[in-house]
Amino acid sequence: MLDLRNAENVVIIGGGTAGWLSSFFMLELFPRATITVIESLSVSTVGVGEGTYRNFRAILDRFSINEDEFFKETEASIKLGIGYRNWKKDSSDYIHFFHDHLLTKLSKIKVNGIELAWPLIGYNSSHIPSSSPYQKFIDEKCSDLNQVINYIRENDLKTRYGYHFNAKKVADYFKKLAIKKGISYITGHVNEIQLTENKGVSSILLEDGRILETDLVIDCTGMRRAISSKVDGFEFKKFDHLLVDQALGFFLPHEVTGFSLLTEAIALKNGWMWIIPTQTRSGCGYVYSSKHCSEEEAKQEIQQYFGSKIDFPISHKFEAGAQTKPFNKNVVSIGLASGFVEPLEATSIAQTISQLNDFATLVTKSGYAIPQKHIDYLNERTFNAFSEAAKFIHMHYLGGREDTNFWKDMASNANNHNELNQIVASLKTRLPRDIDSSSSHTRPQLYFTEFSYFSIYRSLGLISDQVIFNEISAIDSSLLQELSGEIKSILSTV
Ligand SMILES: Cc1cc2nc3c(=O)[nH]c(=O)nc-3n(C[C@H](O)[C@H](O)[C@H](O)COP(=O)(O)OP(=O)(O)OC[C@H]3O[C@@H](n4cnc5c(N)ncnc54)[C@H](O)[C@@H]3O)c2cc1C
Repeated sequence: MLDLRNAENVVIIGGGTAGWLSSFFMLELFPRATITVIESLSVSTVGVGEGTYRNFRAILDRFSINEDEFFKETEASIKLGIGYRNWKKDSSDYIHFFHDHLLTKLSKIKVNGIELAWPLIGYNSSHIPSSSPYQKFIDEKCSDLNQVINYIRENDLKTRYGYHFNAKKVADYFKKLAIKKGISYITGHVNEIQLTENKGVSSILLEDGRILETDLVIDCTGMRRAISSKVDGFEFKKFDHLLVDQALGFFLPHEVTGFSLLTEAIALKNGWMWIIPTQTRSGCGYVYSSKHCSEEEAKQEIQQYFGSKIDFPISHKFEAGAQTKPFNKNVVSIGLASGFVEPLEATSIAQTISQLNDFATLVTKSGYAIPQKHIDYLNERTFNAFSEAAKFIHMHYLGGREDTNFWKDMASNANNHNELNQIVASLKTRLPRDIDSSSSHTRPQLYFTEFSYFSIYRSLGLISDQVIFNEISAIDSSLLQELSGEIKSILSTV
């Protein structure tokens, strides 16, 4: 059992997005303790991670952060979803929207375990015709942020959008807020930790000789996993069916990229490129497989794409995978330290938020004395979230492209992966169901709903008309007739 009832010192190591998000939660959870954030000046933050999922908005509400101030301080703009280009054999594009009116309303009608909306709407169409309230902003290529913000506020669509922002400015802004709320902030490089046999870390030793006592450590040291990797029981499992492992980050003006309310995900020869427009510029990056192309070739491909010379200030090597025990003794790994899949679908910051929400719930519900079985449950749930995201993301690469070895290898890795194989096989017989998003009794923290599964798989051509037809035909005809009245009345209100 981990007893945090009398915790006096909580130490967060790392001053990236994960470190500062953690600081808000720890201040709330341990109001009487000293909460310290330590940041190394010799290790920079990852400097990318500028597109979020919908759950970021709730953070602003939970910690009373004014959204207008957030927009001003972080150059944030609105993200309505992800626009996919060139992911399919026939090069057609599709959008994964965060919100769709029609599907949300129709999803209340469930038959045979499936939400009836999808088969009815998706039937006979190469992709899901959108009834997103946001479609008009995309069609009109709206670049007036205030117009979108007003629309969101007038229609109370609070949970239906994410943000594009400047990662460095978010870290700076959150740091300023955390210090104001009472965080103790110190710079220094953590060199060593002192471990007690059962409890975990008892003190942190900095390079300059300072020592900090601690009851709880939050490891936010990014992919270095500087603390968690030193604790007995540490294990990192790779998702080596995924091939992209290197990213080149760069910034371009809107005049070159255009401005969009979608993250643009453009499939290239050996991976894909993100374009994330903030208020003032676009953060871009090419995520590619280093087994299939060199950094030089990747740079050339990008320069050819834009037809101009480009500077690449950021280069990162990463490994897709996750810790099996991110909560180990009194060390909790959050953010990149706990795991990372790849940037597609922007799962990382979203997962960080889910993990922190779960940790806070666990601590408070346990009365600050946490039995090991709850810690084991949390670990399983967290690992499942990473592993499910890795499979869902791999499925995005199965749109039939075979023009380079990279695309062929992604398809063949899926073929050789038992669980991915089973997903593909199941889509040949039936539609995705709620249960598919969870691989065990522990529902993952970050799970994509069946709507996301259906949108992506149908758009990629992995769900045929026949499968949809079969699902509709299996519904009892009198029930279908009854429901059609209900559906018509819902449709008339959209
Ligand atoms: C190519 C790429 C693209 C991405 N795109 C997205 C995206 O679009 N959306 C999304 O949600 N996420 C994305 N991510 C993930 C996202 O960047 C991270 O979730 C987010 O930035 C949080 O990072 P972090 O704080 O965990 O780590 P980092 O930013 O790496 O911060 C680590 C901190 O730890 C400190 N530190 C390290 N070692 C020590 C030590 N020994 N002592 C003291 N301090 C130490 C460093 O100084 C730094 O402050 C992307 C990641 C990559 C690699």
